[in-house]
Amino acid sequence: MPDFESLNWKEELKNNIKTIDELKNFIDLTETEESDLRKVVKQHPMNIPRYYMNLADPADPEDPIRKLSVPSIDELFEKSLTGNTTDDPYGDDKHDKGNGVLHKYPYTALVVATEYCSMYCRHCFRKRMVGLSTNQTVKNFKNAAEYIADHSEIKNVVISGGDPFLLGTEALREMLNALKNIDHLNYVRIGSRAPVVYPLRFMDDELMEVLKEFNEYKALYVPTHFNTAKEITPLATKAVGRLRKAGLTVNNQAVFLKGVNDSVEKLVELMDGLVRIGVNPYYLYQCMPVSKVRRQFQVPLKEGTEIVSEAKRRLDGYAKRFKFIMGDDSGKIEICGSSGNYLVMSQIHSRPEEPEQASKIMIKELTDDAGWLDDLGQDLL
Ligand code: SF4
Repeated sequence: MPDFESLNWKEELKNNIKTIDELKNFIDLTETEESDLRKVVKQHPMNIPRYYMNLADPADPEDPIRKLSVPSIDELFEKSLTGNTTDDPYGDDKHDKGNGVLHKYPYTALVVATEYCSMYCRHCFRKRMVGLSTNQTVKNFKNAAEYIADHSEIKNVVISGGDPFLLGTEALREMLNALKNIDHLNYVRIGSRAPVVYPLRFMDDELMEVLKEFNEYKALYVPTHFNTAKEITPLATKAVGRLRKAGLTVNNQAVFLKGVNDSVEKLVELMDGLVRIGVNPYYLYQCMPVSKVRRQFQVPLKEGTEIVSEAKRRLDGYAKRFKFIMGDDSGKIEICGSSGNYLVMSQIHSRPEEPEQASKIMIKELTDDAGWLDDLGQDLL
């Protein structure tokens, strides 16, 4: 195995595993699996860094690293077995201001900076665009920054993608420079799974300097995305350590996924592992009803709520700070817990046209199969 820490991050991307023949050098595939996967990658590209692939147990089809990175025949099914699916669960397309800015909540602007990621995660809710060529890339970040400067209600910016850290350091410097003197911004987030799937990116001293310098103007956060304790390796720990040394805060937004982290023990191990390396558990997302994702990965809400509640009982205060969330088009909804056959929720954000919905408590009837808000039964409140 190469010493990934010492490799040039741009050069190493060329060694990513993109074809089934390359994949066979790393994991065992049955003949049926091989022919199925050849069909899947024609529709949804595969892109796995060698670093990440080396974390998988080659002989174990149930390995969580494999489930997160290697395509599955389930991706050919748009529908799930339990409910409806959509391509755009967050309603992103509706809130696109046409200049790369998604402005859904008044106080937050999200800029899609690139569609490229070092890995194409199989559970990605932006599956419809990641790795495909669309015109959503911000060709001129300055236009997005102008929109943000003109809207004084925007208090924070999320630079998202794709994975913005896969842009060159100079491009990131320019983007951050365009934001650093906008007075009404309190902080900026750079959303990235690279600390998990491509931590060698953060061995770049120049990048660390750019982040450190910006952090002197505005507080800079990295929302990252660890899903299993298996991803908390010495190199990922080092990447997080370097971000923290540059003054950044690293928060984790995991997704609750069947076969990956859907047990009390796995969740406890993940959250404990995160606080040990200085990452704050922030969100645990219920897997969205995304077409070609839900069938493979979504855990029913009833079962999931029991698992999450029991995990929280076993975790200490910092490790259980995360909120169990549905990122619905109507706003973010926290799943507080269940009581008998009812699910208790609290709406965290609401759309500007429905301000009365924010902080609303909802109690809805829970069935065994329900996986999303739309599947729940009658309101109790
Ligand atoms: S890194 Fe993030 S945006 Fe990219 S494929 Fe994975 S989950 Fe999707």
